[in-house]
Amino acid sequence: MTENVRVRFAPSPTGHLHIGGARTALFNWLYARHCGGTFVLRIEDTDTTRSTEEYIEAIIEGMKWLDLSWEEGPFRQTDRFDVYRGYVRNLVQQGKAYYCYCSAEELEARRQEAMAQGRPVMYDGRCRDLAEPVPGRTPSVRFRMPREGRTVVHDLIHGVVEFDNAQLDDLIILRSDNTPTYNFTVVVDDVDMKITHVIRGDDHLNNTPKQIQLYKALGYEIPKFAHLPMILGADKTRLSKRHGATSVMAYYEMGYLADALINYLVRLGWSFGDQEVFTREELIGHFSFENVGKAASVFNPEKLLWLNGQYIMKSDPAKLAELVVPFLLREGIVGEGQQVDMSWLAKAVVTLQERAKTLVELASSLRYFFHDPAAYDDKAKAKFLNEKSLPVLTELRDGLTALDDYTHDSIEKVFTSVVEKNGIKLGAIAQPVRVALTGGTVSPGIFEVMEIIGKETALRRIEKALLAIG
Ligand code: GLU
Repeated sequence: MTENVRVRFAPSPTGHLHIGGARTALFNWLYARHCGGTFVLRIEDTDTTRSTEEYIEAIIEGMKWLDLSWEEGPFRQTDRFDVYRGYVRNLVQQGKAYYCYCSAEELEARRQEAMAQGRPVMYDGRCRDLAEPVPGRTPSVRFRMPREGRTVVHDLIHGVVEFDNAQLDDLIILRSDNTPTYNFTVVVDDVDMKITHVIRGDDHLNNTPKQIQLYKALGYEIPKFAHLPMILGADKTRLSKRHGATSVMAYYEMGYLADALINYLVRLGWSFGDQEVFTREELIGHFSFENVGKAASVFNPEKLLWLNGQYIMKSDPAKLAELVVPFLLREGIVGEGQQVDMSWLAKAVVTLQERAKTLVELASSLRYFFHDPAAYDDKAKAKFLNEKSLPVLTELRDGLTALDDYTHDSIEKVFTSVVEKNGIKLGAIAQPVRVALTGGTVSPGIFEVMEIIGKETALRRIEKALLAIG
């Protein structure tokens, strides 16, 4: 790689890290990793009325959970106000920006008028060439946009997109309260931070010609742009809370694996043949903008759930055991401070990872590995814990009690001998045992469960079931 690639993720901390933001962060991260470049995290907190510390922390928490690491930052734009003001002064001195004395009320009145007359809402340029300041007014600073010609955006995803300069507003770069505005700070920072590729949502494509004009005015090289297609809800409107959870950490709470969410997010816009499941190494290796489409993609929670199930199924049981512990705590299955034998837990996890779609499901189905059933499912009890099962269950208990080596195979032998002696089907004994051990009729292989919970626990639960039959 000849070029020293530098990219950035520049969230505004006016909310949690959401699905769209995380996808933008991911594509930046992937491109940086693919090129051996640098990933910068920059917090765009210039809107001090809507930005909060809590959201900054939440964004960082989301990035860390997704394991999207950055080399530089987090920088904060509020730490750099003096830098932006310096750049504004330079532009004013060079006549590339000017003071505007129009008040907010005047601008609003003109805006209303333009709308009423069906004209585009744009600044009319009346302060562009003022000879003297207007007394008693604190000015804002506007950028002197070229009025003729066109600005061409060469976008790595959208190709060539042209804009008529006549339609670009003389945008405010410094408000009358001395705070700089987004389109200006973003350019100054991308210049100062030597960003080579600006990768962001295509809702910013319309800002790009204005920013290109600012680069030109400041005399800096224009970076490459890649505007990512939007993410929509099932009704084809922009993804929002109406469509369900959009915050990344909500997916953590619901028991999603970070790798599964990453894999799902990357496919919102990027593809690589028909492949659906990728390791991070594969993603880093294959990532390119050529495979990013222009069309918006639809967020499909069912597909994400399916993918999560695939990841759980294929995960290393020891790793899954680690990941499920917080959920066991949350469900009250494990107490605070309780020591859990992690290699034992990994064995229990193996029996369930084929079926669990989330860590929440996995945790709750692990309950009977830790606790005797608090109650039996009514139907299951009526059907399987009754007079008919009493003798075979008793026989099984005796057989198990006599076992010296209590293993999967020896347990199976006890079952086989009860089955053969009584001329019954395996289900006629396995189901009552399952209800006795787990409280219900659905569980992994019963011999596995029995081996993992241990002889003492299994016998205690069978004994309890026998008592319940009466
Ligand atoms: N702060 C902007 C946003 O959150 C970032 C825009 C950009 O990446 O240039 O939308």
